[in-house]
Amino acid sequence: MKNFAEDVIIEVFEEIKNVNPDFCKCEKCRRDVIALALTKIRGRYACSPEGEIFARVEQSDRQVRADALFAVMEALEIVTKYPHHSEDDSLSKK
Ligand SMILES: [Zn+2]
Repeated sequence: MKNFAEDVIIEVFEEIKNVNPDFCKCEKCRRDVIALALTKIRGRYACSPEGEIFARVEQSDRQVRADALFAVMEALEIVTKYPHHSEDDSLSKK
């Protein structure tokens, strides 16, 4: 089954990372940001079925896009501050 929320997050992320030269482009950080942003947007839409998010995304619902953008920016900030790519995993093991 397709994950619509993830599609939006990835799309927004691809847009943002290009205007954010400081952000590490490695695959690990990319996945961290997407996973984090996804968690955030899922929390926000916890009460809505995935299909509803998709319907709104299809209509280019500006609120959904704005929420996705916000989630990605927050995630970017966190991952930039605490990147997982080169740490020894002892500090921020989840
Ligand atoms: Zn990295």
